[in-house]
Amino acid sequence: MTPLVRVRGLRKSFGSHVVLDDVDLDVHEGEVAVLLGPSGAGKSTLLRCVNHLERPDAGFVQVGGEVIGYRHSRRRLYELPARAITRQRAQIGMVFQQFNLFPHLTVLENIVEGPVATGRLSRRDAAGQARELLERVGLGGREQAYPRQLSGGQQQRVAIARALAMQPRLMLFDEPTSALDPELVGEVLGVMKDLAATGMTMIVVTHEIGFAREVADTVVFLDGGRIVESGPPADVLDNPRHDRARAFLSAVL
Ligand code: ADP
Ligand code: MG
Repeated sequence: MTPLVRVRGLRKSFGSHVVLDDVDLDVHEGEVAVLLGPSGAGKSTLLRCVNHLERPDAGFVQVGGEVIGYRHSRRRLYELPARAITRQRAQIGMVFQQFNLFPHLTVLENIVEGPVATGRLSRRDAAGQARELLERVGLGGREQAYPRQLSGGQQQRVAIARALAMQPRLMLFDEPTSALDPELVGEVLGVMKDLAATGMTMIVVTHEIGFAREVADTVVFLDGGRIVESGPPADVLDNPRHDRARAFLSAVL
């Protein structure tokens, strides 16, 4: 079966600093891949390449068989027209460490905005969908609140609902609980776990090893821009072969 996400030979440098070095990754439909690794390993850059926020120097990312952001010819990658990139990115939801909600909009308006602005749904349908999504993330009844009136955990759950409002086929999470007080981490991981159980394909950067163990199909350990281990959580978490992975895991466990 063709993977939903296929990364091949991905390279990215900033100046002379090689940040991603020949990265290959497959994520099949309905799978959850957890990316682990020390700060500076290239985890965010990899997610950003998958979502076309960053342009790779070589290699490519395919989502659903389509090369993200580029058209291949034998020799070169050609940038796609902006409209095609927008269409591709609409299939991918992303949740960041900082929730990035619009502060001047209510919770409901935050979630309604995307599908209305892109013409996917009428305002009425988008509002109905937003109410369902808020129920799903445990925030039914908070439609009229403003982000500042919510806890960090609640804001992050709104951010997840907002990403889901675009009906993505792939969800990317970049350290979604790293900015939260410890007592709020569980409620966000719980929503992510429920989402995984619905069959959503997800790539999650996190240091939450318990989540990786319980939810991931594949754990990928990235260090210095290279994938040094990848496999089922039991293999990578309990029997890491690489010294760097072993050291990292003993520090975070
Ligand atoms: P991680 O998410 O694993 O902590 P990142 O992907 O954010 O790592 O960054 C990997 C390396 O690339 C870091 O050394 C970082 O400083 C560098 N880097 C990331 N983005 C940029 C940029 N836009 N310009 C220059 N260097 C960058
Ligand atoms: Mg990062």
